[in-house]
Amino acid sequence: MKCPHCNAEVEERNFCSNCSKPLKPKWYQKNSPLTIFILFAAFAFLAICVYFSVLMGL
Ligand SMILES: [Zn+2]
Repeated sequence: MKCPHCNAEVEERNFCSNCSKPLKPKWYQKNSPLTIFILFAAFAFLAICVYFSVLMGL
């Protein structure tokens, strides 16, 4: 993998072997794009549900 700090090609471990900075991926890098899409879709669905419940309530 590529180190985000020094851009060196390093082995996948907790710390970069080149600059010794942590290589822990961020939550959105850890998750696949599909997971993020599902999360986003679920959030959109929830927002639509709230929107319609407010609309019906009025
Ligand atoms: Zn590095």
